Amino acid sequence: MTNICLVCKKNPAETSSRFGALPCTSCRQKQHKKVGKINRVEFASASKTDRIGMDRLMNEHGMVQPWDINGKPNSEFVKIYKEKALDYFSLSELEKL
Ligand SMILES: [Zn+2]
Repeated sequence: MTNICLVCKKNPAETSSRFGALPCTSCRQKQHKKVGKINRVEFASASKTDRIGMDRLMNEHGMVQPWDINGKPNSEFVKIYKEKALDYFSLSELEKL
């Protein structure tokens, strides 16, 4: 059975042993670029509730940051925020961890 990409409904979806069904490569590349931009904007304008929720989430795990001091994906962050990790990193970056 071939999964079809849920984003463009055209290309076959990719399946990752770690993350399950994923959008096709071209959609992921598009998403990755878009998400990078959106996140930067959202951090500046996140609503108070969102920020409080985020703070609570972050504090629970002792302020784990997505990137380590060298600017590389933080494997600790990826472990804790598996679903969020794809918003920050490409699949190839994650597979290297
Ligand atoms: Zn697609």
